[in-house]
Amino acid sequence: MTEVNGAEHYEVLIIGGGMVGSAIACALGQQKIRVAVFDRLQPEVFDKSQLPDLRVSALSYASEQFLRNLNAWQHIEQMRTCPYRRMAVWEKLHLPGGKELDKRPNQTLFDACEIDHEQLGFIVENRVTQLGLIKSLQQLETVGLYCPATIESMSFSEQNSSITLSDGRTFTGNLVIGADGANSQVRQQAGIRLDYRDYEQQCMVATVEIEGGVQDITWQAFTETGPESFLPLPDIDGKSYASVVWYNLPENISRLMKLSDQEFIDELTRTFPIELPGIVKLHERGFFPLARRHALEYHKNGAVLAGDSAHTINPLAGQGVNLGFQDAACLAEILIEAHKAGESLGDSEVLGRYEKARRQGNQLMMSTMDAFYHAFSNDIKPLKMVRNLALGLAGATKPAVKEVMKYAMGISGDLPSLARKK
Ligand SMILES: Cc1cc2nc3c(=O)[nH]c(=O)nc-3n(C[C@H](O)[C@H](O)[C@H](O)COP(=O)(O)OP(=O)(O)OC[C@H]3O[C@@H](n4cnc5c(N)ncnc54)[C@H](O)[C@@H]3O)c2cc1C
Repeated sequence: MTEVNGAEHYEVLIIGGGMVGSAIACALGQQKIRVAVFDRLQPEVFDKSQLPDLRVSALSYASEQFLRNLNAWQHIEQMRTCPYRRMAVWEKLHLPGGKELDKRPNQTLFDACEIDHEQLGFIVENRVTQLGLIKSLQQLETVGLYCPATIESMSFSEQNSSITLSDGRTFTGNLVIGADGANSQVRQQAGIRLDYRDYEQQCMVATVEIEGGVQDITWQAFTETGPESFLPLPDIDGKSYASVVWYNLPENISRLMKLSDQEFIDELTRTFPIELPGIVKLHERGFFPLARRHALEYHKNGAVLAGDSAHTINPLAGQGVNLGFQDAACLAEILIEAHKAGESLGDSEVLGRYEKARRQGNQLMMSTMDAFYHAFSNDIKPLKMVRNLALGLAGATKPAVKEVMKYAMGISGDLPSLARKK
């Protein structure tokens, strides 16, 4: 940090020190670029005896490699993660009387051993990932972390942007990165408009203590009101936990939220697939309205967006932060190259390279999730037949299953080099 006319000057100002913002700061700081990160909240310190947080994410192989390259994975592993080796997907089918069909000709099982990997990915609490990244960036001399910090005002220009905090301190930078989530203040201040659509379904997440030990499978059963999903969590003090995700229409979610703990457990057990382990206790539940957002521009006038500030997608395939990490890796690589070449980091030509590299891939993933959402959120008979045939065929076709697995894990496809195994 240097001081210019009473303002503290960094090359890059990052608003939002969540998973994506902290990752960009680590990548730039490793190359000695001077970065300041601002977050309005300070994450709670980790303690091994804490019960699992409500917010968890399935991190892909590519995200794991990225976090390893940022020296954050070692800290994350020391806290806690839960590897999952298998993933099952099917659509619930019912007999005319309403009873669920026992046989599942339409089930697809993904197993990491089929592609010679130990696991398909890891379920990690968002706070644990964020804290691992913060530990790593705190070891970098050129990175300053300011949290909690409230931003009072921002002004952007391609050469020199500035932000002022509520305590009166002013910071200047050549570039402002908005990694401040779905309701990004940077996006709004920069005047970047959104393509926005609410999904009809909402998503309820519950952390539960389960019987039977830690699981190595995640599963998702599609129903016409939305998927029912199970994510394993690590054991804590000899007890096992899981995150269950229940997508449904807003009126049903609001009814579920009002049930007593025992009523909720009873309804969960009655409704969810037979695979659901016995529930010992409900620890926490919450719900999330779901919306698809895509920024019409990723950069404007010396401000650039990454992660949820640029796009939010339906979480049904758990790809949100995995895409955000690819944004982070790609943006960092482009900025590092530009820095070496002596280009100004806020230059629209530099930032245009990032948008060109990322927009299409993000759009494709969003559209694929939308296609899934629309294909499964109805009871139209011919469509139901086609999708079950497709699931059944996919399940029976090993090469297709392997390709889907590799793509979802980020093993195949065009990845930034920071997200590849070193
Ligand atoms: C129910 C659910 C399940 C999901 N499951 C998965 C999954 O399994 N896998 C997956 O990849 N993704 C998943 N996602 C998506 C994932 O949670 C998001 O993509 C991810 O959190 C985005 O990270 P981010 O850092 O871009 O934004 P955020 O996590 O929103 O972080 C933004 C940060 O900016 C800070 N901030 C906000 N405004 C300001 C401001 N004005 N000033 C300063 N700081 C500010 C916040 O405090 C926060 O720390 C899921 C989402 C939901 C809703």
